[in-house]
Amino acid sequence: MRKYGNGKFKLTPQRIAILDYLDGNRSHPSAEDIYKSVLKRFPTMSFATVYNTLDALRKSGDILELTIDPEKKRFDPDTKLHHHLICIKCKSIVDIHRKFSLNITSKEVGGFEIVGNHIEFYGICPKCRKQS
Ligand code: ZN
Ligand code: MN
Repeated sequence: MRKYGNGKFKLTPQRIAILDYLDGNRSHPSAEDIYKSVLKRFPTMSFATVYNTLDALRKSGDILELTIDPEKKRFDPDTKLHHHLICIKCKSIVDIHRKFSLNITSKEVGGFEIVGNHIEFYGICPKCRKQS
């Protein structure tokens, strides 16, 4: 398992279960998805624990919080720069690992220093295309 929070993150068994679930997870799960999964191992775990753990991991920069799904926040353990594509029907999210040339000068944006970008693509996945 990868290291989280530069060792500052207190690892309780519940937190480890959440981290195990997230490690290498490419499905961009919601807090509810994560809760449902860890509940199998920790039936007494509360949703608040999951929520607070996700919040701590987000603050320490170990996971990304995605707002591409308008219905619920989604989480991504891959914090390297990449973009996302969401299916507007089933809300599945896939990664787009491709560099786009976005040349915005500091002058254009009132002197801001651009430190990052994130592009959201919307589409209909192959599964949903078959159904319609
Ligand atoms: Zn779909
Ligand atoms: Mn991603």
